[in-house]
Amino acid sequence: MAETVAVGLDASRRSLRTTRGTLRYKSLVLAQGARPISLPSLPANMVWRINTLDAWLGLRAQIGSQSRRIVIIGAGLVGCELAEDAATAGHDVTLITQGPYPLETLLPSQAGMVLQQRLRQCGVTIITNTTVDIVKPSPAGKTIILSSGNKCDAEIVISTIGLETNLRLAHMANLKTKQGIIVDEATLRTSNPSIYALGDCISLNGQTCRYIAPIAAQADAIAHSLLGLPHAGYQHTSPPIRLKSRIMPLELRGTPDPRAEWDVVEATPFRLLMQQKQGGIITATLKA
Ligand SMILES: Cc1cc2nc3c(=O)[nH]c(=O)nc-3n(C[C@H](O)[C@H](O)[C@H](O)COP(=O)(O)OP(=O)(O)OC[C@H]3O[C@@H](n4cnc5c(N)ncnc54)[C@H](O)[C@@H]3O)c2cc1C
Repeated sequence: MAETVAVGLDASRRSLRTTRGTLRYKSLVLAQGARPISLPSLPANMVWRINTLDAWLGLRAQIGSQSRRIVIIGAGLVGCELAEDAATAGHDVTLITQGPYPLETLLPSQAGMVLQQRLRQCGVTIITNTTVDIVKPSPAGKTIILSSGNKCDAEIVISTIGLETNLRLAHMANLKTKQGIIVDEATLRTSNPSIYALGDCISLNGQTCRYIAPIAAQADAIAHSLLGLPHAGYQHTSPPIRLKSRIMPLELRGTPDPRAEWDVVEATPFRLLMQQKQGGIITATLKA
């Protein structure tokens, strides 16, 4: 059922209301993904969010073939990759982050500061430790007012501040949620046994994991359960996280603990290798 949106869920009647009528189900799988976080300070009519192909094509069309002044808000994986690509393509790029350096939720400061330096060398202006109070129209296009009191102008503003699960359907069905739809780690059943969930919309052990890699194994476990076939159960492992960058390709493996210390194993101008250990066992590795 293409171009159909699920708009209502009544778990007691096992019925899903859609824009093309109501469907009854024996089992239901929620695979609704996540949507860009929307803040009143970043109005949708002035700030791009690039979570869909349509949005990306719209942004590409607005950028056109000229060099543009682009402000990117949020220095996570998407923001950093986009900033590098746009600067390399000849645009005047400013990257705004609330952290002390880009990728601050993933990287130890030693690695984050190297990334920051390389992005700057590539032409990206980076403004750290600040949030955006408001984006408003201006003769130059848009003016971004920062919490620091400073401001900057842009023709194009892009928000890459992260994703959130739309919990509307889950709440209608009284499913338990915490950032995402809570599922059992082995069965991927929600708190209602006839409803499963997978992918970006779920919360596993209280955490979301919004990467492509785990989804096939999640779908496999659910398919076996739906067909009544034996299965050992889904076993979650953190997928490798990669920054797809030419100036600093990096890979993070394991389960990094943002509060734990990192040990430097090797640090040269060409290679950075860091590790986290717990009880003498390596729990996370960073290669850049
Ligand atoms: C810019 C960007 C770059 C990324 N890069 C990487 C990467 O390099 N590596 C990586 O591992 N991951 C990456 N990701 C994340 C990856 O895309 C997601 O983890 C993956 O797409 C999640 O799949 P999903 O099926 O859970 O959700 P989605 O792919 O988001 O699919 C959800 C679908 O459900 C539909 N839907 C939602 N609500 C309803 C409703 N009520 N009714 C009907 N349909 C509905 C949506 O329209 C959509 O088609 C990236 C994401 C973005 C936005």
